[in-house]
Amino acid sequence: MQAGLAERPRAWVPMSYVKLERRPPPWWRSQAETVDQMQAKHWDVTSRCSTCHLVMRVNLAVISKVSGGETSLWNRRQRCRRLHCTGFVTFSARPPELMQPFALMSAWPEDREPGWWRKPHGARR
Ligand SMILES: [Zn+2]
Repeated sequence: MQAGLAERPRAWVPMSYVKLERRPPPWWRSQAETVDQMQAKHWDVTSRCSTCHLVMRVNLAVISKVSGGETSLWNRRQRCRRLHCTGFVTFSARPPELMQPFALMSAWPEDREPGWWRKPHGARR
């Protein structure tokens, strides 16, 4: 074995660091629950129909305008928009720091209170 190996500098990430790709769904959910938060973090969100396999980019700005910025897409199923299709779509997201998208399916993040994302009264974020 090479002599210098043991003297190599330690990794500069803490021991508890988990690669982003390995983080569990509740962690991602705790980063962005609502369409406004996903938009602010530049998540690329798509919908996919389990029946006709139509994949569409989700326009977060439109959902925010129509349904409200606190709308959540986690664990949501929506009717497919394709004409004559009776299927349902589910949602996936890809944050800019990830190469691969993940399904927006997750249990509630344990460390979060219900409604944690709401702006404090009168505050702007
Ligand atoms: Zn469809």
